[in-house]
Amino acid sequence: MSLPILRLALPSPLRRLFDYRAPRDIDPALLLPGVRLRVPFGRREVVGVLVARAAHSEIDETRLREALALLDRAPVLPPALLELCLWSASYYQHSLGDTFAWALPALLRQGESAERGEERFWQAAPGARADDPRLARAPRQRQALATLAQHPHGIDQNRLEQFQLSRDSLKALHDKGLVQVRRQRPSLAVHQGAWLLQPELALNDEQRSAFEAVRAGFGRFHPCLLEGVTGSGKTEVYLQLIRETLEAGRQALVLIPEINLGPQTLERFARRFNARIALLHSGLTDRERLDAWQAAREGSAQIVIGTRSALFTPLKNPGLIIVDEEHDASYKQQEGLRYHARDLAVMRARLERVPLLLGSATPSLESLHNAHQGRYALLRLTRRAGGAQPPRFERLDVRSRPLDSGLSPPLQRLIGETLAAGQQVLVFLNRRGFAPTLLCHDCGWMALCPRCDARLTLHQRSGELRCHHCDHRQRPPGACPQCQHVDLRPVGVGTERSEERLRILFPEVPILRVDRDSTARKGAMEQLFATINRGEPCILVGTQMLAKGHHFPRVTLVAILDADGGLFSADFRASERMAQLIVQVAGRAGRAEEPGRVIIQTHLADHPLLVQLSEQGYAAFAAQALAERRAAGLPPFAHLALLRADAHRPEQAEAFLDQAAQLAEQRLDDGANTAVMVLGPVPAPMERRAGRHRAQLLLQSGSRAALHRLLGPWVAELEALPGARQVRWSLDVDPVDL
Ligand code: ADP
Ligand code: ZN
Ligand code: ZN
Repeated sequence: MSLPILRLALPSPLRRLFDYRAPRDIDPALLLPGVRLRVPFGRREVVGVLVARAAHSEIDETRLREALALLDRAPVLPPALLELCLWSASYYQHSLGDTFAWALPALLRQGESAERGEERFWQAAPGARADDPRLARAPRQRQALATLAQHPHGIDQNRLEQFQLSRDSLKALHDKGLVQVRRQRPSLAVHQGAWLLQPELALNDEQRSAFEAVRAGFGRFHPCLLEGVTGSGKTEVYLQLIRETLEAGRQALVLIPEINLGPQTLERFARRFNARIALLHSGLTDRERLDAWQAAREGSAQIVIGTRSALFTPLKNPGLIIVDEEHDASYKQQEGLRYHARDLAVMRARLERVPLLLGSATPSLESLHNAHQGRYALLRLTRRAGGAQPPRFERLDVRSRPLDSGLSPPLQRLIGETLAAGQQVLVFLNRRGFAPTLLCHDCGWMALCPRCDARLTLHQRSGELRCHHCDHRQRPPGACPQCQHVDLRPVGVGTERSEERLRILFPEVPILRVDRDSTARKGAMEQLFATINRGEPCILVGTQMLAKGHHFPRVTLVAILDADGGLFSADFRASERMAQLIVQVAGRAGRAEEPGRVIIQTHLADHPLLVQLSEQGYAAFAAQALAERRAAGLPPFAHLALLRADAHRPEQAEAFLDQAAQLAEQRLDDGANTAVMVLGPVPAPMERRAGRHRAQLLLQSGSRAALHRLLGPWVAELEALPGARQVRWSLDVDPVDL
């Protein structure tokens, strides 16, 4: 019998497979889809994934090269995950090889063994005592030793975070001989003891019906949307469903939008469960990532928590998938494989035959539409759990009121009253830096980015002008470059400016700024939260980083400085995002005993969407917004694909897109496919960015099938276009930013 031809996905942007001859000394029975092989590729050697075997190649078989080595004795990806990668590549029109690159840990892409070697376990040395005099002035080491002492079999390297053990403390203890490191193969022994470390809360009626509804779907594909107001106890429902999952001997995968939420989520889960929890986030080293991945794949991590890319973590016994804050835009990847983790979670749950729970206080219009269509079960939590009151919304009309660094006088008064009552205030402003514009008062000159069609933001702290689109940085000029006058003024308000003003207005309380600049330093976020959790009066000023999931029990006043941006934007999703942001930020208010108040400063106090949102809540807003989308033929009632191109010269991008448009039109005519509309090309909303000219072409259809019938063959034609070499182009299926 002749050896089969191997069809491999290789790390290449080309949307095709590559044929190789099987290595001669390999048992063909080991050549299963999903194993990795090392192969020659041009002058290099690369690692590829076997996708299929064929009896013959379309290429002259005498010219086929032979694969060099088989790297796995069993497929690295379980069948469902392999299937998911194939599906993703085809749905998003992306190279399969590159899709695997997004799905696999870096070390596996480089050819590292997928089998687990030995692991390091930390344990207390015999006779080591937490009251050792050498630890008298080292409380963290003392704590660490006490924690280790509770785990006689030791704590493995991957769980240090879960038990809040810092490497520094362990190293210091090790140096003192109080701690030992043991290497051993991780055991796959059956789980010992009860799963719960703390009693569960008694679910209220709404929580109970949501819980029962999901549980009824265990063991099959059963997608559910949990729409629960902020503080309604969604997380408690997740936790109890996870306990059911663990008891059934299965694993739970939990996606969270933002890694800042990781530690907080991890802590809550670790307090509840006697289980191994793998936390996957971008801060892991390649080795740590591979370890966590392997622990999930072999089933020794029973709970996997992670951001977007954790969706691709293999699970030995999947039982439940949860996507928390499912509306969050960070689930959509904006480069390379432009996937939406929430949408792929649906596909994964289908392939794995497990229930899927999408949770949010402000569900995306897409998910609500799916629920209304009967594709998802809709579960609702309408009341806050534990007796907290819903926050009260007030629109504060700031037309013709003086704004003092964005703060109107009535708002300043309210802030003062709240602080005086011993409570905390959250001021939300979705713009970092000091001011978004630096303007010459004499001639109207503005500081613009030399590489983008954008203004530079003034960052006073660092004494810089910065472009928030390409990260260009420069010193602010001393005088106007156009008229040489020295009257340059910062216009508009960013978080730095509000912070500065609040410091002057309320000198007696701490002002804590939370944005990407203030939290860039490692540990900064933890420090901020420690201050907040002490509960003394303070003011938090920050961007959307503050909006996500945090629990601030002492915040009773939330002020939204500027709600108007979302009502003007050209992007049809802007109002949905604004509404979600307002409701999420507002949800930080009054989560404990004292009721919360939410002040929305606006120049458009009568805007129907704002009125509806503040008076009737998110559900009413969403119903209205969905009706508008339906009337306008926009998603979720239509399906989009966006072809983007950029180039050094504007003509190049447009010429490419013109050709692309023609090819699409031709295909549509030939196939009598009238369901797809070709719109454009048009310049991108910010035409020049980082020195490149950008344009885009939109395909829109009421029928997803019709759109996808076009995409596959069309993209193959685009790859072959001569003009494709002069531009950078990408196709974004179901884009979220237009
Ligand atoms: P969400 O995830 O919807 O924001 P959480 O699960 O964080 O809500 O719950 C909000 C608060 O209510 C938490 O302090 C939680 O402990 C409490 N809580 C949740 N469910 C219950 C319940 N059934 N009984 C009492 N308190 C509850
Ligand atoms: Zn000037
Ligand atoms: Zn720029």
